[in-house]
Amino acid sequence: YRYEFDNYGIKNVCGLEIIVGKIYIDKYKAADRKNIYNSEEKVIAIVLAGGRGSRMNSSIPKQFMNINDRPVIYYSLKTFQESDVIDEIILVTGKNDIEYCKNEIVDKYNFTKVMDIVAGGAERYNSVYNGLKAVKKINERIKKFSENDVANDNIEKSEEYVMIHDGARACITDEIIQNCYTDVKNYKACVAAVPVKDTIKVTDDNGFAINTPDRSTLWQVQTPQTFEFKLVYEAYNKMIKDDNRGNITDDAMVVENYSNTKVKMSLSQYSNIKITTPDAIV
Ligand code: C5P
Repeated sequence: YRYEFDNYGIKNVCGLEIIVGKIYIDKYKAADRKNIYNSEEKVIAIVLAGGRGSRMNSSIPKQFMNINDRPVIYYSLKTFQESDVIDEIILVTGKNDIEYCKNEIVDKYNFTKVMDIVAGGAERYNSVYNGLKAVKKINERIKKFSENDVANDNIEKSEEYVMIHDGARACITDEIIQNCYTDVKNYKACVAAVPVKDTIKVTDDNGFAINTPDRSTLWQVQTPQTFEFKLVYEAYNKMIKDDNRGNITDDAMVVENYSNTKVKMSLSQYSNIKITTPDAIV
Protein backbone atom coordinates (compact mmCIF):
# COMPACT_ATOMS: atom_id res chain seq x y z
CA TYR A 1 0.00 0.00 0.00
CA ARG A 2 2.93 2.30 0.69
CA TYR A 3 3.72 2.56 -3.01
CA GLU A 4 0.22 3.65 -3.95
CA PHE A 5 0.06 6.23 -1.19
CA ASP A 6 3.35 7.66 -2.41
CA ASN A 7 2.28 7.46 -6.01
CA TYR A 8 -0.51 9.90 -5.26
CA GLY A 9 1.71 12.03 -3.08
CA ILE A 10 -0.63 11.35 -0.17
CA LYS A 11 1.85 11.48 2.65
CA ASN A 12 -0.17 13.15 5.34
CA VAL A 13 -1.75 9.98 6.71
CA CYS A 14 -4.82 11.34 8.43
CA GLY A 15 -8.46 12.24 7.78
CA LEU A 16 -9.37 12.72 4.16
CA GLU A 17 -5.95 11.66 2.96
CA ILE A 18 -6.54 8.19 4.36
CA ILE A 19 -9.90 8.01 2.64
CA VAL A 20 -8.41 9.20 -0.64
CA GLY A 21 -5.58 6.67 -0.29
CA LYS A 22 -7.97 3.85 0.54
CA ILE A 23 -10.19 4.55 -2.44
CA TYR A 24 -7.34 4.85 -4.87
CA ILE A 25 -5.95 1.54 -3.66
CA ASP A 26 -9.36 0.03 -4.29
CA LYS A 27 -9.59 1.65 -7.71
CA TYR A 28 -6.06 0.54 -8.52
CA LYS A 29 -7.22 -3.04 -7.97
CA ALA A 30 -10.19 -2.37 -10.22
CA ALA A 31 -8.00 -0.97 -12.98
CA ASP A 32 -8.61 -4.00 -15.19
CA ARG A 33 -12.37 -3.55 -14.96
CA LYS A 34 -12.29 0.04 -16.12
CA ASN A 35 -8.98 1.56 -17.05
CA ILE A 36 -9.46 4.52 -14.74
CA TYR A 37 -6.03 6.06 -14.93
CA ASN A 38 -5.82 5.89 -18.69
CA SER A 39 -9.45 6.86 -18.98
CA GLU A 40 -10.36 10.41 -19.93
CA GLU A 41 -13.36 10.38 -17.64
CA LYS A 42 -14.61 9.98 -14.10
CA VAL A 43 -18.18 9.51 -12.86
CA ILE A 44 -19.04 10.54 -9.30
CA ALA A 45 -22.33 9.83 -7.54
CA ILE A 46 -23.50 12.42 -5.00
CA VAL A 47 -25.95 10.57 -2.77
CA LEU A 48 -28.23 12.78 -0.68
CA ALA A 49 -29.25 11.74 2.80
CA GLY A 50 -29.52 15.15 4.41
CA GLY A 51 -33.28 15.60 4.74
CA ARG A 52 -35.21 15.33 8.02
CA GLY A 53 -38.22 13.62 6.43
CA SER A 54 -41.02 15.52 8.17
CA ARG A 55 -43.64 13.81 5.96
CA MET A 56 -42.73 10.42 7.47
CA ASN A 57 -44.01 11.42 10.96
CA SER A 58 -40.94 9.72 12.40
CA SER A 59 -38.03 10.88 14.55
CA ILE A 60 -35.71 8.76 12.39
CA PRO A 61 -35.02 10.40 9.00
CA LYS A 62 -36.55 8.29 6.21
CA GLN A 63 -33.15 7.50 4.70
CA PHE A 64 -32.14 5.69 7.92
CA MET A 65 -35.35 3.73 8.50
CA ASN A 66 -34.91 -0.01 8.06
CA ILE A 67 -36.25 -2.05 5.17
CA ASN A 68 -35.37 -5.75 5.42
CA ASP A 69 -32.90 -5.00 8.22
CA ARG A 70 -30.93 -2.47 6.20
CA PRO A 71 -31.27 1.33 6.29
CA VAL A 72 -32.98 2.83 3.22
CA ILE A 73 -29.76 4.61 2.18
CA TYR A 74 -27.91 1.26 2.05
CA TYR A 75 -29.74 0.22 -1.11
CA SER A 76 -28.80 3.11 -3.39
CA LEU A 77 -25.22 3.13 -2.05
CA LYS A 78 -24.98 -0.58 -2.87
CA THR A 79 -26.23 -0.06 -6.43
CA PHE A 80 -23.71 2.74 -7.05
CA GLN A 81 -20.92 0.73 -5.37
CA GLU A 82 -21.58 -2.22 -7.68
CA SER A 83 -22.07 -0.22 -10.88
CA ASP A 84 -19.16 -0.32 -13.33
CA VAL A 85 -20.02 3.22 -14.41
CA ILE A 86 -19.38 4.79 -11.01
CA ASP A 87 -15.85 5.62 -9.85
CA GLU A 88 -16.51 7.51 -6.62
CA ILE A 89 -19.33 8.39 -4.25
CA ILE A 90 -19.84 11.49 -2.07
CA LEU A 91 -22.40 10.95 0.68
CA VAL A 92 -24.23 14.04 1.97
CA THR A 93 -25.99 13.75 5.30
CA GLY A 94 -27.01 15.72 8.41
CA LYS A 95 -24.11 17.15 10.42
CA ASN A 96 -25.03 14.92 13.37
CA ASP A 97 -25.38 11.80 11.22
CA ILE A 98 -21.88 11.78 9.69
CA GLU A 99 -20.39 9.50 12.36
CA TYR A 100 -23.35 7.13 12.15
CA CYS A 101 -23.07 6.95 8.36
CA LYS A 102 -19.33 6.32 8.52
CA ASN A 103 -19.49 3.56 11.15
CA GLU A 104 -22.87 1.94 10.59
CA ILE A 105 -23.19 2.18 6.83
CA VAL A 106 -20.01 2.99 4.87
CA ASP A 107 -17.53 0.95 6.95
CA LYS A 108 -20.00 -1.74 7.97
CA TYR A 109 -21.02 -2.59 4.40
CA ASN A 110 -17.59 -1.84 2.91
CA PHE A 111 -18.72 0.88 0.51
CA THR A 112 -15.18 1.56 -0.65
CA LYS A 113 -16.13 4.06 -3.35
CA VAL A 114 -17.31 6.57 -0.73
CA MET A 115 -14.60 9.24 -0.87
CA ASP A 116 -16.11 11.66 1.62
CA ILE A 117 -19.14 12.16 3.86
CA VAL A 118 -20.14 15.81 4.11
CA ALA A 119 -22.79 17.79 5.96
CA GLY A 120 -25.90 18.84 4.06
CA GLY A 121 -27.77 22.13 4.34
CA ALA A 122 -31.23 23.52 5.08
CA GLU A 123 -32.68 22.85 1.61
CA ARG A 124 -32.00 20.04 -0.82
CA TYR A 125 -30.13 22.42 -3.11
CA ASN A 126 -27.83 23.44 -0.22
CA SER A 127 -27.02 19.76 0.32
CA VAL A 128 -26.30 19.28 -3.39
CA TYR A 129 -24.07 22.36 -3.42
CA ASN A 130 -22.09 20.99 -0.46
CA GLY A 131 -21.68 17.72 -2.35
CA LEU A 132 -20.45 19.55 -5.45
CA LYS A 133 -17.98 21.54 -3.35
CA ALA A 134 -16.67 18.26 -1.87
CA VAL A 135 -16.05 16.96 -5.41
CA LYS A 136 -14.20 20.17 -6.25
CA LYS A 137 -12.11 19.95 -3.06
CA ILE A 138 -11.06 16.37 -3.71
CA ASN A 139 -10.15 17.24 -7.31
CA GLU A 140 -7.99 20.13 -6.17
CA ARG A 141 -6.18 17.92 -3.65
CA ILE A 142 -5.56 15.19 -6.19
CA LYS A 143 -4.39 17.77 -8.72
CA LYS A 144 -2.03 19.30 -6.17
CA PHE A 145 -0.70 15.93 -5.07
CA SER A 146 -0.18 14.86 -8.66
CA GLU A 147 1.51 18.03 -9.91
CA ASN A 148 4.97 16.51 -9.71
CA ASP A 149 3.86 13.11 -10.89
CA VAL A 150 4.01 12.65 -14.64
CA ALA A 151 2.05 9.40 -14.39
CA ASN A 152 -0.99 11.33 -13.14
CA ASP A 153 -1.35 13.74 -16.05
CA ASN A 154 -4.65 12.09 -16.95
CA ILE A 155 -6.35 13.19 -13.75
CA GLU A 156 -6.16 16.81 -14.88
CA LYS A 157 -7.51 15.99 -18.33
CA SER A 158 -10.44 13.95 -17.08
CA GLU A 159 -13.99 14.51 -18.31
CA GLU A 160 -16.01 14.52 -15.17
CA TYR A 161 -19.66 13.69 -14.64
CA VAL A 162 -21.77 13.81 -11.49
CA MET A 163 -24.90 11.79 -10.82
CA ILE A 164 -26.94 13.52 -8.12
CA HIS A 165 -29.23 11.00 -6.44
CA ASP A 166 -31.89 11.17 -3.73
CA GLY A 167 -30.82 8.56 -1.18
CA ALA A 168 -34.52 8.03 -0.51
CA ARG A 169 -34.85 6.41 -3.98
CA ALA A 170 -33.78 2.98 -2.79
CA CYS A 171 -34.98 1.13 -5.92
CA ILE A 172 -32.51 2.66 -8.36
CA THR A 173 -31.08 0.06 -10.76
CA ASP A 174 -27.87 -0.28 -12.71
CA GLU A 175 -29.90 -0.01 -15.93
CA ILE A 176 -31.05 3.50 -14.92
CA ILE A 177 -27.46 4.47 -14.11
CA GLN A 178 -26.29 3.11 -17.49
CA ASN A 179 -28.98 5.08 -19.38
CA CYS A 180 -28.04 8.30 -17.59
CA TYR A 181 -24.38 7.67 -18.32
CA THR A 182 -25.03 7.18 -22.06
CA ASP A 183 -27.22 10.31 -22.24
CA VAL A 184 -24.89 12.58 -20.28
CA LYS A 185 -22.05 11.72 -22.64
CA ASN A 186 -24.24 12.74 -25.58
CA TYR A 187 -26.10 15.73 -24.11
CA LYS A 188 -24.03 16.96 -21.10
CA ALA A 189 -27.15 17.12 -18.89
CA CYS A 190 -29.89 14.56 -18.34
CA VAL A 191 -32.36 13.41 -15.70
CA ALA A 192 -33.90 10.00 -15.04
CA ALA A 193 -37.59 10.36 -15.88
CA VAL A 194 -40.68 8.41 -16.96
CA PRO A 195 -43.58 9.52 -19.19
CA VAL A 196 -46.59 10.68 -17.17
CA LYS A 197 -49.40 8.11 -17.21
CA ASP A 198 -52.13 10.21 -15.63
CA THR A 199 -53.75 13.36 -16.91
CA ILE A 200 -52.26 16.43 -15.20
CA LYS A 201 -54.36 19.51 -14.42
CA VAL A 202 -53.15 23.03 -13.68
CA THR A 203 -55.45 24.72 -11.15
CA ASP A 204 -56.11 28.14 -9.74
CA ASP A 205 -55.58 28.97 -6.07
CA ASN A 206 -59.01 27.51 -5.21
CA GLY A 207 -58.34 24.12 -6.79
CA PHE A 208 -60.37 24.65 -10.00
CA ALA A 209 -58.88 23.40 -13.28
CA ILE A 210 -57.63 26.12 -15.57
CA ASN A 211 -55.91 23.98 -18.17
CA THR A 212 -54.85 20.45 -19.12
CA PRO A 213 -51.35 20.21 -20.63
CA ASP A 214 -50.83 17.74 -23.49
CA ARG A 215 -49.83 14.55 -21.66
CA SER A 216 -47.42 13.44 -24.39
CA THR A 217 -45.10 16.33 -23.43
CA LEU A 218 -45.09 15.59 -19.69
CA TRP A 219 -42.46 13.62 -17.78
CA GLN A 220 -42.22 12.65 -14.16
CA VAL A 221 -38.72 13.51 -13.09
CA GLN A 222 -36.66 11.37 -10.72
CA THR A 223 -32.96 11.04 -9.91
CA PRO A 224 -30.11 10.48 -10.78
CA GLN A 225 -29.83 13.91 -12.33
CA THR A 226 -26.61 13.72 -14.28
CA PHE A 227 -24.36 16.49 -15.58
CA GLU A 228 -20.89 17.39 -16.67
CA PHE A 229 -19.35 18.48 -13.39
CA LYS A 230 -18.10 21.85 -14.65
CA LEU A 231 -21.51 22.71 -16.11
CA VAL A 232 -23.54 21.97 -12.99
CA TYR A 233 -20.94 23.44 -10.63
CA GLU A 234 -20.94 26.76 -12.49
CA ALA A 235 -24.75 26.81 -12.69
CA TYR A 236 -25.00 26.15 -8.93
CA ASN A 237 -22.49 28.92 -8.18
CA LYS A 238 -24.68 31.38 -10.12
CA MET A 239 -27.90 30.14 -8.50
CA ILE A 240 -26.51 30.45 -4.95
CA LYS A 241 -25.64 34.11 -5.58
CA ASP A 242 -29.09 34.88 -7.03
CA ASP A 243 -31.51 36.27 -4.42
CA ASN A 244 -34.41 35.76 -6.85
CA ARG A 245 -33.76 32.06 -7.36
CA GLY A 246 -37.31 31.04 -6.38
CA ASN A 247 -38.21 27.52 -5.28
CA ILE A 248 -35.50 25.12 -6.47
CA THR A 249 -36.88 21.58 -6.41
CA ASP A 250 -34.37 19.76 -8.62
CA ASP A 251 -30.94 20.12 -10.19
CA ALA A 252 -32.18 20.23 -13.76
CA MET A 253 -33.90 23.55 -12.89
CA VAL A 254 -30.55 25.01 -11.91
CA VAL A 255 -28.97 24.00 -15.23
CA GLU A 256 -32.09 25.14 -17.17
CA ASN A 257 -32.10 28.56 -15.48
CA TYR A 258 -28.40 29.29 -15.13
CA SER A 259 -26.78 27.77 -18.24
CA ASN A 260 -27.50 27.44 -21.96
CA THR A 261 -27.47 23.65 -21.92
CA LYS A 262 -30.72 21.77 -22.48
CA VAL A 263 -31.56 18.90 -20.17
CA LYS A 264 -32.47 15.55 -21.78
CA MET A 265 -34.98 13.12 -20.26
CA SER A 266 -33.26 9.79 -19.74
CA LEU A 267 -35.69 6.87 -19.76
CA SER A 268 -36.01 5.45 -16.24
CA GLN A 269 -38.30 2.95 -14.50
CA TYR A 270 -41.60 3.58 -12.66
CA SER A 271 -40.24 1.56 -9.73
CA ASN A 272 -37.59 4.23 -8.98
CA ILE A 273 -39.82 5.83 -6.36
CA LYS A 274 -38.85 8.24 -3.61
CA ILE A 275 -39.68 7.08 -0.11
CA THR A 276 -41.54 10.13 1.17
CA THR A 277 -44.55 8.97 3.17
CA PRO A 278 -44.99 5.85 5.37
CA ASP A 279 -47.13 4.07 2.70
CA ALA A 280 -44.02 3.84 0.46
CA ILE A 281 -42.59 1.28 2.93
CA VAL A 282 -44.70 -1.89 2.53
O1 C5P B 1 -37.30 16.06 0.96
P1 C5P B 1 -37.15 15.44 -0.38
O2 C5P B 1 -38.04 14.25 -0.57
O3 C5P B 1 -37.20 16.39 -1.53
O4 C5P B 1 -35.66 14.85 -0.37
C1 C5P B 1 -35.05 14.29 -1.50
C2 C5P B 1 -33.66 13.82 -1.11
O5 C5P B 1 -32.85 14.95 -0.76
C3 C5P B 1 -33.66 12.88 0.09
O6 C5P B 1 -32.78 11.80 -0.17
C4 C5P B 1 -33.17 13.75 1.22
O7 C5P B 1 -32.44 13.05 2.20
C5 C5P B 1 -32.29 14.75 0.51
N1 C5P B 1 -32.24 16.06 1.18
C6 C5P B 1 -31.03 16.56 1.60
N2 C5P B 1 -30.95 17.76 2.25
C7 C5P B 1 -32.07 18.49 2.48
C8 C5P B 1 -33.33 18.00 2.05
C9 C5P B 1 -33.38 16.78 1.39
O8 C5P B 1 -29.99 15.89 1.40
N3 C5P B 1 -31.96 19.64 3.12
